Amino acid sequence: MKSLFGDIEALPQVQEKAEGPFVGVALENSLDKVLDYSVPAKMRSLIRIGQRVRVPLGRNNRPAFGYVISTSATSDYPRVKPLLNIDDERVLVTPGLMKLALWMSRYYCAALGSVIESIVPSAVKKKTGIGHINRIRLLWERDRVQALLEKTKAPKRRAILGRLLLVEPGEAVELVRLAGEAGATPATVKKLARMGIISVTSEMDWGNQALEGESSDSKGHEPDRELNEDQQKVFDELKPRLASGFSVNLLMGVTGSGKTEVYLQCMREVVNQGKQAVVLVPEIALTPQTVKRFTARFKRVAILHSGLSATERHRHWQTIASGQADVVVGARSAVFAPLPNLGMIVVDEEHESSYKQDTVPRYHARDVAIKRAQLEGVPIILGSATPSLETYQRVQPTEKSEPSAYHLLELPRRVRGLAMPHVELVDMKLQNKSRTGVHLLSERLEGLLRVTLQQGHQAILLLNRRGYSNFVYCVHCQEAVQCKYCDATMTYHRAAGTDVNSAAVAKGVHTGHLHCHYCLAVQPLPEKCPTCQKKLSLFGLGTQRVEEEIRRKFPDLRFERVDSDTMRSAKDYEQLLGRFARGEIQVMLGTQMIAKGLDYPNVTLVGVISGDTALSLPDFRAAERTFQLITQVAGRAGRGDAPGRVVLQTFMPDDPTIQAAIKQDFQGFAKRELVHRKEVGLPPFGRMVRIVLRDQDQDKLQKLSEDLAAQVIQAVNIEEAAPGESAKRAIIVRGPMPCAISRISGYFRNQIVLGSTRPERLQRVLKTLREKGDLAKTDRVAVDVDPVSLL
Ligand code: ADP
Ligand code: ZN
Repeated sequence: MKSLFGDIEALPQVQEKAEGPFVGVALENSLDKVLDYSVPAKMRSLIRIGQRVRVPLGRNNRPAFGYVISTSATSDYPRVKPLLNIDDERVLVTPGLMKLALWMSRYYCAALGSVIESIVPSAVKKKTGIGHINRIRLLWERDRVQALLEKTKAPKRRAILGRLLLVEPGEAVELVRLAGEAGATPATVKKLARMGIISVTSEMDWGNQALEGESSDSKGHEPDRELNEDQQKVFDELKPRLASGFSVNLLMGVTGSGKTEVYLQCMREVVNQGKQAVVLVPEIALTPQTVKRFTARFKRVAILHSGLSATERHRHWQTIASGQADVVVGARSAVFAPLPNLGMIVVDEEHESSYKQDTVPRYHARDVAIKRAQLEGVPIILGSATPSLETYQRVQPTEKSEPSAYHLLELPRRVRGLAMPHVELVDMKLQNKSRTGVHLLSERLEGLLRVTLQQGHQAILLLNRRGYSNFVYCVHCQEAVQCKYCDATMTYHRAAGTDVNSAAVAKGVHTGHLHCHYCLAVQPLPEKCPTCQKKLSLFGLGTQRVEEEIRRKFPDLRFERVDSDTMRSAKDYEQLLGRFARGEIQVMLGTQMIAKGLDYPNVTLVGVISGDTALSLPDFRAAERTFQLITQVAGRAGRGDAPGRVVLQTFMPDDPTIQAAIKQDFQGFAKRELVHRKEVGLPPFGRMVRIVLRDQDQDKLQKLSEDLAAQVIQAVNIEEAAPGESAKRAIIVRGPMPCAISRISGYFRNQIVLGSTRPERLQRVLKTLREKGDLAKTDRVAVDVDPVSLL
């Protein structure tokens, strides 16, 4: 038997003396193995790399599914079993995607089968929604059939053959239809097949394949806009790169600078060359407004969104694979769109952490997109107002005065001469001194909100925390209510539909539940402290609490709270944005759901209720995330003719990240942050691999962690002793230590973190561990290469 990296054990049972050709098959279940199989004679002309096949597995020859990843005339293994059958004759993984899969499996340390499973949508694998129909063709020469017709006495057979002679040579007639027209039964038709006169093949019936764009005349007809000077300059620089192989281009443009228009015109070039383009956008930004910008320009657009039914998803995939879509727009997994002639990839908002998948394979769609572009020799454009520091670092000139790895293109101004919004800071420490009672909205924000509404404009308020209060606290015991299963405080959520202006609420009577945001556990709000029976206080703010204050202060406001508690589906969100666009809602208060990508010209005020919520998280990217989120939400203001204002409330007015955010000074922020990261060897200067271990039993976890850590250190020692590698301690191992959230859902969690400035050395350490099977021993071990979340 052959693992990805070599022999593991010999095969116990063999049915026949194996003869070539052979195929390497990556198994679908997450066994980290590629096995050789022989191809039976009848399948030889049909077998292709990228097909899904059924194979016998193990001692009992249990049937299992896998994908053909290689073919060869010989096998290194003397005893090889034959394939059972080809499950789907279509090539489900194109050669380009197969190379990508192999890279991902190595880089992200994930079983090849699991990587391919994320590349091929399950609706495609299961052939959801495709009817199969039997098609009949003549096998005999037409003259011979004619001769038979004249001789045969069976009228039904005559009718069937006569009907088949009417179609063009090679054309087929559907079985049931043929039988009907000939006044015969399908059984009679099949009898002719058994006699070898005709063939019956089961083929897919796609039904109506039109894409959204093709049915309506309004689609694809919007003319390209005239580019402004900045856009034109960027486009002129990009244009020659659109037809000259692989390049990585960072389009860094402030919010509202017209990045999308640049993508659209680059895509036009690529489509005119007869190629296809993929645009990745964060899931949350895949709104009808975004979709329309692409469908208005191009006729043949496939949109891959989470609301597609399995049948639709399959149909889209087939349309894309057959080259009938010029443009594919989708979230993370659209990076695997099986385009036959890929010409360009765009990753919009490349800094978004939602591009990272948090289950196996733990890939980052931006990085996979770059790799795909490289493998397929096409340009990629990464767009953002606030690029990730990983990307930004790569447009810096290198020390050896070599050209930087990525090209930098900038749009420093908003379109149509619009001003950047004016950001002002409100120090909440001073606020609370000057007023009585608790006020979550400062006087300044409240005042500006009133002015905005009087002028008939709209506002967006951001608070990136849902619920009412995330700290249900006993002042006496100095303890907050903790989740029973997690190392985390419970968040109080008020019961839906509570009338916030009711007398009960005014008196501080609370009805609702405590929720854990990690394991989703729920319990009633205790009336008193479980330990000392004294009164509990609600500290910490969430969107519900701000909603309460707004409804109290603005009783007639057309207002909506937008978070994952009120937005249960993509449809809810779509409808909400529609109402906001029509002005039926004046103010939206929400989590990051409303911070990104929205382009509503009547929004003139943005309020950040707390600029600090993310700053103190135990994650080295806390400052980066805070800066990005504030800048993104600020960018929603002033996109129309009226100028925009942003109020940033904070308890940490002197924090350098907050200061940079007020000035919307990305360069300043990045420069400072990069110096800091360099000093401590954090990404982008070092690469990181995080191994998270979990167990319900703390002692077992400790043992598992220590054993694995010993293996890790051994593998690191082997790597550091490698000839030609002089630098000692080039790989740093930290842990095992408890994760920042040391228990989730009853599982204790430990981590081992590897860091190095040399990614290839980390890769070699992982390879050693993987070959020895140290990482696959149990599902309690998760490897995360280039982790995005460190909690
Ligand atoms: P970004 O993605 O950089 O935030 P958008 O691409 O959303 O910016 O552009 C902001 C707005 O400006 C959009 O409504 C877009 O249609 C418009 N726009 C883009 N380019 C131009 C242009 N050259 N002239 C006029 N309006 C433009
Ligand atoms: Zn919990």
